[in-house]
Amino acid sequence: MEEAANNTKNVVVIGGGVAGSLLAKSLQFDSNLVLIDPKEYYDIPWTDLRSMVEPTFAEKTLIKHSEYLSNGTIINSRAIDITATEVLTEEGRAVPYDFLVVATGHDEALPQSKTDRLEQFKKDYEKIKSSNSILIIGGGPTGVELAGEIATDFPDKKITLVHKGQRLLEFIGPKASTKAMKWLKSKKVDVLLEQTVDLDSVSEGSGEFKTSTGTTISADCHFVAVGKPLSSGWLRETILKDCVDQRGRLKVDDKLRVIGHDKIFAVGDITDVKEMKQGYIAQGHATLVAKNINLLLKGEKESGLSPYKPGSAFAIVSLGRKSAVAQFPFMTISGRLPGMIKSKDLFLGKTRKVMGLDS
Ligand SMILES: Cc1cc2nc3c(=O)[nH]c(=O)nc-3n(C[C@H](O)[C@H](O)[C@H](O)COP(=O)(O)OP(=O)(O)OC[C@H]3O[C@@H](n4cnc5c(N)ncnc54)[C@H](O)[C@@H]3O)c2cc1C
Repeated sequence: MEEAANNTKNVVVIGGGVAGSLLAKSLQFDSNLVLIDPKEYYDIPWTDLRSMVEPTFAEKTLIKHSEYLSNGTIINSRAIDITATEVLTEEGRAVPYDFLVVATGHDEALPQSKTDRLEQFKKDYEKIKSSNSILIIGGGPTGVELAGEIATDFPDKKITLVHKGQRLLEFIGPKASTKAMKWLKSKKVDVLLEQTVDLDSVSEGSGEFKTSTGTTISADCHFVAVGKPLSSGWLRETILKDCVDQRGRLKVDDKLRVIGHDKIFAVGDITDVKEMKQGYIAQGHATLVAKNINLLLKGEKESGLSPYKPGSAFAIVSLGRKSAVAQFPFMTISGRLPGMIKSKDLFLGKTRKVMGLDS
């Protein structure tokens, strides 16, 4: 661990995803900044499904932390404990903090190196290309977007999507579900609702999958697209254990500080703010908290900090390269218009720009 330069304070960010990477970038020249993330890169979640059908697209979607963090320390490890003064990492380091930000969003066992992650996308692509029939388990945004990508790029593949809920995309309204269902059916995707596939009994290469209602699905390969859990289990062993709610979210105040901990903030999907969990909202958290920490670093008082105000939320789920279904506060639309907003490059250029990189 490097010593704090010029008496600047230590700001530690745990999690280099959508919110954590932006926050780390924003504070690197105002503090002795440390980013703790198990991966050496920021993996933009909403581009992953395109990378599976077009592996060359992935190159720019995996942003090495070193690309935007020229003045910080990057620790590629998992945080496993937080004390009143330090963060402990899996590889045995104790990282001191003056201000701490928890941005651990969702957990997924991704490769540590960018090269290995690119290799993973290539393998997924080969798996899709070499299969005539594909089963997708899960009808949330990941399952629906993956079905859309495959149906668009490989229209001859037989795709079956199994979802345990009564409708697709339950995180948004029923109109959006209906529109997504209609689009998938127009692409000849078989959607089976209110059924599950026992993941323990699934074995690649068997060619047959049984659902909970006894339906047999023939498929050469399968993809599991059930929601990733929040990465908060580890927090239950830390000084923040009483601040984790039943759903695994961190309880925060209106400045996005963890309740009862003045020097510890939380941003992104891990927070218990009552709003839709979306990446652009996570970026909004990061911008606000970066501003407030910067003020605190300059000696500003509590009263000078800006509060967080949840705004109106929207979500766009892409359906292949040209279409999408979008839910705005008073309207749900589908087709080319929302497709023009998201589906062409999946916000890649915009997201890179936010990180100060060329598109
Ligand atoms: C298919 C799909 C499409 C989406 N489309 C959109 C969209 O179009 N627009 C939009 O705004 N949002 C979209 N979202 C939602 C968006 O991706 C999330 O809201 C966003 O990723 C939340 O950001 P986050 O920083 O809170 O968490 P994440 O992005 O999940 O980042 C968490 C980071 O923490 C790290 N981490 C976890 N545990 C630890 C630990 N113990 N120690 C250290 N690091 C740890 C992880 O490795 C990861 O880097 C989409 C999501 C999906 C799945």
